[in-house]
Amino acid sequence: MLDTWTLLIIDDCAADRKIYRRYLLKDPHQSYKILEADCAEEGLALCQKERCDVILLDFCLPDMSGLELFDRIQQEIFKTSVPVIMLTGRGDEEIAVQVMKRGALDYLVKQNLTQDVLQLAVRNAIKQSCLQAQLLKTQERQRLIATTALRIRQSLNLEQILNTAVAEVQQLLKCDRVIVYKFAPDTDGKIVASSIEPYRTVALCDRVGVGDKGTRRQEDRGLMTREEFSPSPIPYIYELGLCNCVNLKEQFNTKANLVVPINLRNNGNSTPKVWGLLIAHHNSGERHWQTDDTEMLNEVSVQLAIAIQQAELLAQTQAALAKEKQLNVFKSQIITTVSHEYRTPLTSILAAASTLGKHSQQLDEPKQQRFLGIIEQKARYMSKLVDNMLLVNQLELEKPKFQPISVDLLQFFSELLEQERETIGDRHEFIFKITGNHHGFWGDRGLLQQIFINLMSNAIKYSPDGGNVEFHLIGKESEAVFYIKDQGIGIPMADQENLFQSFSRGSNVDTIPGTGLGLAIAKACVELHSGSISLSSEVGQGTKVTVSLPKICPTN
Ligand code: ATP
Ligand code: MG
Repeated sequence: MLDTWTLLIIDDCAADRKIYRRYLLKDPHQSYKILEADCAEEGLALCQKERCDVILLDFCLPDMSGLELFDRIQQEIFKTSVPVIMLTGRGDEEIAVQVMKRGALDYLVKQNLTQDVLQLAVRNAIKQSCLQAQLLKTQERQRLIATTALRIRQSLNLEQILNTAVAEVQQLLKCDRVIVYKFAPDTDGKIVASSIEPYRTVALCDRVGVGDKGTRRQEDRGLMTREEFSPSPIPYIYELGLCNCVNLKEQFNTKANLVVPINLRNNGNSTPKVWGLLIAHHNSGERHWQTDDTEMLNEVSVQLAIAIQQAELLAQTQAALAKEKQLNVFKSQIITTVSHEYRTPLTSILAAASTLGKHSQQLDEPKQQRFLGIIEQKARYMSKLVDNMLLVNQLELEKPKFQPISVDLLQFFSELLEQERETIGDRHEFIFKITGNHHGFWGDRGLLQQIFINLMSNAIKYSPDGGNVEFHLIGKESEAVFYIKDQGIGIPMADQENLFQSFSRGSNVDTIPGTGLGLAIAKACVELHSGSISLSSEVGQGTKVTVSLPKICPTN
C-alpha cells in the first residue's frame, strides 16, 4: 500500500488548483491528501493545523507575495526547512532564484506545467525532504550519543561511569529505568548500576548462562515485581549468544526491556568478552522500541565498554603500582632487619670463634663447649631469620597454594609438641586441653605448623620467668577454636594493634630476640584457611591468642 502524503496548494486561481489536483491524483506512484487555500492567510492557517509534506505555493497571492509567505511559513510554522515548490509565471525566474536560495525545494513555471512535470517535481520534493529529515535525525542522534559518550568517559572510576551511563541513557531514551547487569565468572551476575535506587538487593536470577529455562530460579526480593522487571530472560539471551540487540518484548513476550550486551575487547582475541548487559526498561504505557532506540543503546554500550575497559586498566595499573610500592617497602625493611638483626648474632659468633681460635689452649673443655654452643645457637637463629623472611615474602607477595587434607588434630598436636619439647624446657608447665568434637578437620599441615609453632614459641619466649603455657583446643560443629595462653610479660595496649604486621614488635621486648615476623606468618596462614586470629593481653599478666579455623575451608 502506498503512503499518503499531505499536500497543500496555495493559489488564488481555482482553475489552476483544480488542474494541479487532477494531475497529482493521477500519479500511479504516489497517493495524496490534497488541501487547498486561495490566499496566504488561509494557507498559513492550514499549515498550522496540519503537518504538510509538500506545499505548492503560487508566487503571486492577493494578500501577500509568495516570497513573504514562504518566509512566514519557515519562521512560524516549521522552523526547519519547508518542503515548498514555488509556482512562478514566465519571466519570474529571478523570484524563483531568490526563493530557492532561501530553501525552497524547487520551482515550476506555471505556463510549462504538464502532468508529468508536476508529478515528478512533487515526488522529488518528498524524497528530498525525507532524506533531509533522516539526515537531521541522524545528526541529532550522533550529537546526543557524542554528548552521552563524553559524559560517560569523563571519569575513570568504574562506579561513577556506570552511574552516569544509566542516568544518561534514561534521558536519551526517555524510558523508566536503565540498569547495568554484570556477569560474574562462575556464579550469578548482578545489577551493578540502576538509574533508580534502591537496587542492590534485587537478584536477577540465580544462575547466569544456563540454557535450560527449567534450571533457572526466578527470584524477586520485593523491590521490583517480576512484571516490572522481567528478569528471567536476560541470562537466557546471554546463553543464546545474541550479541545484537534483543527486544525482549517481541522475542520472549515479556515486558518492555531493551537489552544490549556490553562487549569488551578480549586481548587480541577476535571474539569479544561479554562483560554484562545494558538494559533499558519501559513499563509505563505502551512503548514500541524503534530501530533508532536500539541503535542508540548499542552505540552507548560501545562507549560504555571503552570506559569500563579504561577504568579496569587504570585499576590494574594502580594495583600493580601499589604492589610494587609494597615490595619496595618490604625490601627496605628486609635490608634494615638484616643489617640490624644479623649484626648482634654475627658479633657473638665472631667473638666466640675468635676466642676459640686464639685461646683454645687455655680454655677447658666445658668452656670450649659453651663457645661452640653460642656459635651454633646464633647461627640457627640467623638461619631461622632467613627462613622466616623468605616465608613472609612468599605469603605476602606470592600467595602460596592452600592444600588441605584431612587432619587428625590430636595426632597433629602430639607430634608438634614432641617436636617442640626441646624449646619448651623445664621452666614452663605445659597444659594441653581438648574439648568438643575435633574430628572432621581439613587443613594444610605445613601452614598449621607455621601457625602453632610461632604461637607456642612466642608464649614460651615472652614468659622468661616461666609459668603455665595453656593450649586449649575446642572442637565445634563447623570450626575448631584454639587458645594459647601464657603468664608472661604481656603486650602494651598501644602496640597490640600492629603486631600482625611484618617486622612489628612490642616496646617491652627488651633483650628478647625476635624479628617481628612470627605473628604476620601465623595470620597469613590463618587467612589461607579462611579463619581468624585475635589477641588479648595485659602487661605483666600474660597473653592469650585465639585462632578459629573452619573445619572445612569454604573454598574447598
Ligand atoms: P619472630 O619472628 O622470631 O617470631 P617476634 O616474636 O618478635 O619474632 P612475632 O611473633 O611476630 O615476632 O611477635 C611480634 C611481637 O608481638 C613480639 O615481638 C612481641 O612484642 C609480641 N608478642 C607476641 N606474642 C607474645 C606473647 N605471647 N607475649 C608477649 N608478647 C608477645
Ligand atoms: Mg615470634
